[in-house]
Amino acid sequence: AVPATVPATVAAPLVPTCDGGLVEYANFDHGASTPALVSVVAAVEKATATYSSVHRGQGWASQVSSHYYEAARDEVARFVGARDGDEVVFTRNTTDSFNLLAKALPRRTQVIVFASEHHATLLPWEERRTTRLPVPLTHRDAEALLRDALKRSTSSSTLVVLSGASNVTGEYWAVERLAALARGRGARVALDAAQLVGHRRVDLDTLGVDYVAFSGHKIYAPYGTGVLVGRADWLDKATPYLAGGGATAAVGPLSTTWKTGPARHEGGTPNVLGAIAVAAACAAIRENRSAIESHEQRLTSRLVGGLRAIEGVETFSIFGDDADRAPVVAFTVDGVPSPLVSAALSAEYGIGVRDGKFCAHLLVDALLSDEDAEVTTAVRVSAGLATTDEHVERLLGAVASLAANGTGTAYEQVEGRGWV
Ligand code: PMP
Repeated sequence: AVPATVPATVAAPLVPTCDGGLVEYANFDHGASTPALVSVVAAVEKATATYSSVHRGQGWASQVSSHYYEAARDEVARFVGARDGDEVVFTRNTTDSFNLLAKALPRRTQVIVFASEHHATLLPWEERRTTRLPVPLTHRDAEALLRDALKRSTSSSTLVVLSGASNVTGEYWAVERLAALARGRGARVALDAAQLVGHRRVDLDTLGVDYVAFSGHKIYAPYGTGVLVGRADWLDKATPYLAGGGATAAVGPLSTTWKTGPARHEGGTPNVLGAIAVAAACAAIRENRSAIESHEQRLTSRLVGGLRAIEGVETFSIFGDDADRAPVVAFTVDGVPSPLVSAALSAEYGIGVRDGKFCAHLLVDALLSDEDAEVTTAVRVSAGLATTDEHVERLLGAVASLAANGTGTAYEQVEGRGWV
């Protein structure tokens, strides 16, 4: 079982396996979306009693909703150590946060980004001058590549976009060191913390970054909720991301003036319950950081060590130095295509994993380039607060069996019935 000191998630369902049995679902897809925390469900349930639009009325429900919404913003600010002059904008997800930031950059901003980024962080800059750095081979290499790009940037405004943790290999990036290089050259830094905040404390000042974005659904809150936190100046001058009600200061027949602050970019009725849920998740994680870290570290070392010990399994790493990492591992199984590995894990063992390129095509292509040319995708397992030791042992046993014997006959039999 998960230690009692770790915030509880809603109970895992029993799922059918192809031998006709039922087994507790082993969710190894926390890197995609996490199950809800019990405390998040409770916070949302409480807030449904005051369902009402925020900042739009004097009615009791409206006042309470407005209070909850702004208290949620304060919790998010506290969670990432927002400074004076930072603001918290609620968005739909990390992708939305980076698209908002892309639209808010001063016109001539030069963007520097590593090719290894998730597409949410790699792609929103297409309308900007962008320098795409290759996938680094080591942490030192990443620093050298960034130093060189910063030296060559002639723009008066530069934004360096970094990941906190890779959604493919689980490795942590040396954010503090890279951000210091950027700051030394007068550049700003935006951090994709989607795979980091659930596992490690993120503090804007300690890391030396200007913006941070993450998604609620990766920290045990619902889909459709995300945040962008950071320097208010560019955001306050930018064209509103969502023009509409709530974002306006005054509307005349010929002109509109816009609010400053987060409301400028949050036009329309916001996802109040989503914001409350994100804040509840942030509070639970903030208050239980050390229990979460020790639970996940134990799982991660067993998971990584166990997978690497299986003959025919290859795990992947960017920096080749992954002692400290998030509980996310990408691997391939010799002779078994990745979609089949993931389908068999589901159908035969009730284990949910992901296969493919994980919205990080350039990184996966680089990591797999030494492999057989036929191997173009990997399997990813990602653990979290709902993961038990039994899940890890079930996964390792299942992968060992797939590596030794291929997919079992039970799986072959149901394949034609569209089980997967
Ligand atoms: N960055 C990273 C590192 C991610 O893992 C993800 C989600 N897979 C995202 C960004 C995008 O998050 P979302 O899909 O919630 O916008």
